[in-house]
Formats: sequence, C-alpha cells, structure tokens
Amino acid sequence: MTCRFANIIVDISHEKVDRPFQYRIPERLMGTIAVGMAVTIPFGRGNKLIHGYVMEVTDKAEYDESRLKEIHSVVKDGVSAEGDSIRLAWWMKQNYGSTMISALKTVLPVKQKRKQLVKKTIVCMVDEAAAAEKAEEFGRKHQTAKARLMQELSLQPALPYTLVTGKLNIAAQTIQALEKAKLIETHAEETYRSALPENVAQGWQKKTEKHLSENQGRIVNSILADFKAGIRQTYLIHGVTGSGKTEVYMELIDRVIAEGRQAIVLIPEIALTYQTLVRFYQRFGDRVSVMNSRLSAGERSDQCVRAAKGEVDIMIGPRSALFTPFQRLGLVIIDEEHEGSYKSENMPKYHARETAAELCRMKDAVLVLGSATPSLESYHKAKGGAVKLFTLKERLAGGQLPQVHVEDLRQELKSGNRSIFSRRLYALIDDRLKKGEQTMLFINRRGYAGFVSCRSCGYVMKCPHCDVSLSEHTDQYKKAGRLVCHYCGYEMPGVTNCPQCGSKYILGFRAGTQQIEELLHKEFPAARVLRMDADTTRNKDSYEQILSQFANEEADILVGTQMIVKGHDFAKVTLVGILAADMSLHAGDYRAGERTFQLLTQAAGRAGRSALPGEVVIQTYQPEHYTIIHAANQDYEGFYAAEMSYRDLMMYPPAAHLMAVLVLSPDAVTGAGHAQELAERAKAASGDAPPLVIGPAEASIGKINDVFRYVFYIKHRDYRVLTGIKDVLETYIEAMQWNADSVQFDFDPMRNY
Ligand code: ADP
Ligand code: ZN
Ligand code: ZN
Repeated sequence: MTCRFANIIVDISHEKVDRPFQYRIPERLMGTIAVGMAVTIPFGRGNKLIHGYVMEVTDKAEYDESRLKEIHSVVKDGVSAEGDSIRLAWWMKQNYGSTMISALKTVLPVKQKRKQLVKKTIVCMVDEAAAAEKAEEFGRKHQTAKARLMQELSLQPALPYTLVTGKLNIAAQTIQALEKAKLIETHAEETYRSALPENVAQGWQKKTEKHLSENQGRIVNSILADFKAGIRQTYLIHGVTGSGKTEVYMELIDRVIAEGRQAIVLIPEIALTYQTLVRFYQRFGDRVSVMNSRLSAGERSDQCVRAAKGEVDIMIGPRSALFTPFQRLGLVIIDEEHEGSYKSENMPKYHARETAAELCRMKDAVLVLGSATPSLESYHKAKGGAVKLFTLKERLAGGQLPQVHVEDLRQELKSGNRSIFSRRLYALIDDRLKKGEQTMLFINRRGYAGFVSCRSCGYVMKCPHCDVSLSEHTDQYKKAGRLVCHYCGYEMPGVTNCPQCGSKYILGFRAGTQQIEELLHKEFPAARVLRMDADTTRNKDSYEQILSQFANEEADILVGTQMIVKGHDFAKVTLVGILAADMSLHAGDYRAGERTFQLLTQAAGRAGRSALPGEVVIQTYQPEHYTIIHAANQDYEGFYAAEMSYRDLMMYPPAAHLMAVLVLSPDAVTGAGHAQELAERAKAASGDAPPLVIGPAEASIGKINDVFRYVFYIKHRDYRVLTGIKDVLETYIEAMQWNADSVQFDFDPMRNY
C-alpha cells in the first residue's frame, strides 16, 4: 500500500503557518515521497510555489480529499532531514521556542547538495620503454608537445590532468590526439573538496599516541567501561589548560571508533586553530574532518556527504558541527564547555551543551564536557550527581601555575598614579623587556556595558532590585547620562559624586586597546608591540597571522581583547597583565562574575607555559570582590560556592531558570504595547508557584536597524513552568496574528538584551 498524503511544514517562519499542511501525493511521485524530504508545493491563495519538508506520509486524509492540493515536485539536490534530525528539531522547538521550520533549518547543516568535484588523471597505456620510444619518435617529427608528455609519462605512468595542462603546457587537442592513438587515457574520478587547510594534510605522518598518565587513563577507562556496559550519562572533565584533556579526548575517540561508532568534537570557533587541527590530523589522518564558518558551501556539503556515507569518523567544529549527519554517532565532546559561543544567537536560541545531551540520548551516545573553568550549570549538575566529574590537576608539559598579584587601582590613584598601568605592572613590563621575555596585556571589552564606578573607593552603581551593575545610557535621543538596569528597567539620574565616599572620580571606565598601544609606544619606545582586536582582525587570516608573529617572537608585547587568551601556546610569555578586571565584572548581567573568573583564569594560564616561571598582574578597583580573590588564588571551588549563593539568593540560573522575552517592532508604541501585553499574560499564567516577571523595559540597545526592542524576564525554579509560559505566549501571538519573528525567547540567556 502506498501512502497518498503528506503532511508538510512550509518554509515560512510565521506562527500562523507553524503547523503541518496536508498535500496529496500525485501518482508520478507515489512511493518516492519520504519523511524528511524537501519538496516544492503550491501554497496560499495564489498557489505560489514554495519549499517545505515532509513530516509524515499517511493514508488518512484530514480534509475532504478533493480540497487538498498536490505536491508539485521533489526539490532537486535538496537535502533530506533524517528522522533523528526531525525529532531533534521538534525538541528544540519545544524547549527553546521557535517555529518548526527555523528549528529544521538549524539542524540541517547543508540545505542544498553541491556537485562533487571531478579529479582527472592522464594514464599511460603503453609500458615505459614504449613511451620513451614514442617520445623520441615525436621529437624527431618536431611534435614537441606530444614528445614532452610521452617523455614525462615514461617516467611516471599517471599524471594529474591539471599538471599536464598547467605546468607541462599541453593543449587539449594534443591530449585528444594521443587518446585517439591509444597511447593515453583520461580517467575521471569524483572527489571531495578538502576542508582542512592545505598544509595540515601535507606531509602527514602518523604520530603514535602519548602514554597516558595514571589519571588520564583512569578517566578513559571509566568512561569506556560505562559505554560498553550501556550506561549513558554526561561526564565533565575539570582540568586546567595543559592538564591533558585533549589527549584524553583523542584516546576516547580512538576507542569509540574501534567500537564502530563516530565522534563529534565541538571547539569554540576562536580556539579552532591550525595547531588543534594538526594534532587531530596527526592522530587520525583523513578520518577526521572539520566544519567552520570559513568553508564554502561546496566544502560544507562535501563534509556532510562524507560523514553521512561513513567516510569520516570524526567531525571537529563549532556549535553547528553538532548537526553532522553521522549514522553511528557514539561520542560527543564539548571542549571549553563554559564558552558563551555554544549558545546560538538566532532562533531557536539553543545551547549546544543541552542539545548535545538530547542528541546523545537519541543516538545512544555519550557526552563528555571539558573545561578549566566549568560553567556553573555543569558543575551544579556534577554536584547533584547528574553529571560525573573527573579532575585533572597538574600541567603535563611542565610549567608551573604562575604567581598572581592583585593591584588595587584605588591605591594607585591615592599615590598620584593616574596611568592605565599600576606601578607594579609598569616595573614588570620593563623587566621583561630587559630580559627579552614576552608580555601579554589584556583588556576585556566583551559585554562591557558602561558601568559606573568610583575610582577612589571602588563603589559600583547597582540596581537595588536585581543586584547587577547599572549601565550609563548613551542614547542620544532620550536618556543621556541616566543609569539603567538592563533587567528590570529601573533607572536613576547620573551621579557626579560617589554616594559612598563623595569623591568626584566617579565615572565609566573607558580604556581601549588602541589607547594602551599608544601609551606603550610612549612609555617603552623600544618595545615592539602587536595589537589584536576587532579592528586588526577584520581580514580572514589576520587572527592567525598576529598570533604566529607573536609566537615567532617578532614582538615583545601583545595587546588585545579576550581573543588573545585562546589558542596558541607561547613559551616566552612570562607576564600577563589584566588591565581592568572590573570591566567584565560589572557588565550588568548575572553571568558577569562567572565570565570574569573564566577570563582571569584563562589569561593567567597564558603565563609560564614552559620552563620559565610566569607572573600575572590583575588590576582592579575591587580587590575584595570574591571573583577577584578566588581567581587570584586559582580556587574554582571557592568561586563556585560564592557564586552559587549569589545565584540562589537572586534566583538566577542554575539555581533557578530565567527566560528572556524580546519583542521587536518597527514602531516603538506597538513594540512597548506588545511587550506589556505578553508580560501580563505571563503573570496571569500562574500555577501553584507563580513566576516572577521582571520588566518589560527597553532593551539595552533600544533600537537596531530601525527596529525597536523591548524585553522582559521571567524567573522560576522549574524550567517546565517557563516552557509552559512560552507555549501560552506563542498561542497568544498566533491568535493575535503577530509575526512570529517579532518575539524571541531565550532560556537562561548568556547575554544582555
Ligand atoms: P589540555 O587539552 O588540557 O590543554 P593537552 O592535552 O593539550 O591539555 O596537553 C597539554 C600538553 O601535555 C600537550 O603538549 C600534550 O602533548 C602533553 N601531554 C598530554 N598528555 C600527556 C602524557 N600523558 N604524557 C606526556 N605528555 C602529555
Ligand atoms: Zn567612592
Ligand atoms: Zn534591576
């Protein structure tokens, strides 16, 4: 029996059409239409042809059969969604809020198949001696091109076509003539575009694996024993940079592959360096492939085809590599699992860690997380027993943890030093220049929201309701100089004197990488300085270029944003300076402390990676802040305990859950009105324990591209209550016929709105 109807999700993101539509399968397509397939269908009153994905094929008509439209055709070269992908998309839609079509598009890494490349080879059809003879014969007849090719083929019986037409400069007619004479043949073979940088794959030699330390071995064996026993859970490896986590990952992958399974390794895009790729390539050769944003559509498509066919076992890449179409996935590894880039900025705003856990559940695979500074979420789960924790304490390649100094910038001001550099940092930079060692200076601007603090006593202006820093609003059109809370919208006039000590030195901190570079030139004219920030890394390869220049010791000092703390190892760096730890500490969101701890730990980890001992200087106006104290002592446990009690008190994740609802509108009044309506719906949707609704308020960036932005937050200890409210709001949005894209949901957000 062949099914005659198909339920199809149309490629339009709107709440109103966010459900399957039924179509008739025409005679000519009967038997070919399958679940997941991309099809072309007539839609709407005008029967415009659009694309859609088949969610179900059935023999049951839901309406009068004669009223159903027919599927027009199957999309040529369209990529089908697999059953698992559809289930995963459904899960994402349910848990993060989005239309089904947005979720489907997210789980399909490639929408369109590209033609494979064809590699042509010229093969000699006679033996060496005969080829040499022919070459001579052609030479005597002054047919130099033919002579040249036969001569070459007498030495090497098969030559790449591109070499023959290129370097040997042989015309197509000459090749055809020799083919006719049955001296040569042209062979064509389909091949894949390589995703690896050319020089990674060249000169590959398999390196034997390292002999694992006892600790490393214990982790591998424990996870593997569970795997073979059918126990499925999530593991977290907490280990400082250089403690051998990557080596553990590779061993695990090796063993899981030996079981006939496949592996996905997620690495933040910014840390996915040439060096990392080389390491994996040296161990696994061309069984490994990579996905990153630099690949062309054709290269991406080829990697997916290879993965689906089982021609590669390991896919390395950022967040989206999670959707590699492996048939026998056995292992997912998320390195630096705390990284914010694992959370998608687009709808659905999924977190790769949670989505990976769901994927692993579906595929009967295991999930391994690794970090030097685990996210509070993962560590909280480890404490609760839902995640199994392993710890790696020592650095393996030698090198001790650096000595950390905390410099109190209030004291510097009191002593008359108003420079960006504390006296200690200045002296240490000078010392390193004299010794010919390298320095990294780091200023964090990410998440910088214009907090206001007192340079005299360190007091920070905070929201009385949310306990996050207030931000100075620089909106020219209405709120210049006002201080605003990005969660609840609380605001107050700007201040001219410190409420705590009365000092007039109360202001926003405004130093940038460029200013630091200029100051270095002034203070240390002989020093060679490199700068790395969004400005100097606009070009495709400039990021790698700057880092390798620094690695080759072509500079003494590298100044940069958070970008510089990842990737390369620099043996000669013995000093790291964090110029204003407060910048990330007072970013105005509940994760500011966690992010600061991570950054300080990572930055400190850059110093003293080899035999030379390292020193770290953390400059701050708040040396007594628990984040600074625990980071200076490199005490993760201490930080975790302090931070968790703050989260618990204020009901922030992971102690509770937080859902941001962002409302977008080209009209300010409409946007504010919709936000208000939705916030009221949310308040009304109360169960036994009513949710806390905060806001609505204008978003921190109130307008982007002429679209106004309003936001409100909902807190609850139970995640399901929040997804329940999301469902209620989605239904309301559909009933009111608002555009689905005008409202965005973000669960446990990693950022401010
Ligand atoms: P992480 O991923 O935690 O930063 P890596 O796996 O990169 O750590 O290891 C850090 C360094 O130690 C690397 O140079 C690696 O080759 C080396 N290493 C790792 N494990 C061992 C081992 N068991 N024996 C010797 N060297 C090791
Ligand atoms: Zn003060
Ligand atoms: Zn507030």
